[in-house]
Amino acid sequence: MQIKIILYCPDCQSAKIKKNGKKSYKKQNFLCKNCGRQFIGDHALSYKGCLSSLNRKILKMLVRGIGIRDIADIEQISINKVLSALVHSTHKIKPKQQHYDKLEVDEFWTYVGKKKNKVWLIYAYHRATGEIVGYVWGKRNYKTAKKLRDKLKSMSISYDAVYTDKWDSFIAVFQQDNHIIGKENTKGIEGNNCRLRHRIRRAFRKTCCFSKKLFNHFKAFDLAFFYINYGFI
Ligand SMILES: [Zn+2]
Repeated sequence: MQIKIILYCPDCQSAKIKKNGKKSYKKQNFLCKNCGRQFIGDHALSYKGCLSSLNRKILKMLVRGIGIRDIADIEQISINKVLSALVHSTHKIKPKQQHYDKLEVDEFWTYVGKKKNKVWLIYAYHRATGEIVGYVWGKRNYKTAKKLRDKLKSMSISYDAVYTDKWDSFIAVFQQDNHIIGKENTKGIEGNNCRLRHRIRRAFRKTCCFSKKLFNHFKAFDLAFFYINYGFI
């Protein structure tokens, strides 16, 4: 019996593969003629952490509310492998429009390391398209709120009206804009806050999962925002 396996390059997905000698541990080595990547086929791997489709799967699980340790256990891989997939992800959102009719802005509480170490997310959301337009991190103060407005300006985004709750800093920051205050108008972003708490394990309430590193914390949110904006979740 002969079984035929078609190999693709794990990096560039090219099918132009040639044999390239044996590894010291006797496994067949392959070389991608397109990008020069050397690899062993998925069928011959002993450690599942090297499966070429795994990274995508890990990222998807991370934005589906599954914790780092759970993923490591389900996939039979190391915790470091899961963290490395997160740390090396390079997802950043870009605004899809230059002009928005209504933007909702709100703050979102998270913490890193311990509950006292608060890290606030302030972000702008477009309810009609469900898009996260821009976000900044910092303390819950005027400076961070202003950072968001400055960021929107620096991306040359304009808007007809901005909706927030009646927090003093929002009132001060958006006073030159058409600023509308009231809970009624921020239902969209409140709903999105709920989605973030469901999707990002480290943002769950009353859980023992939390971020230890600020860098990984930011990465987890970058990833979730990208997946939300581009319809993956
Ligand atoms: Zn390749």
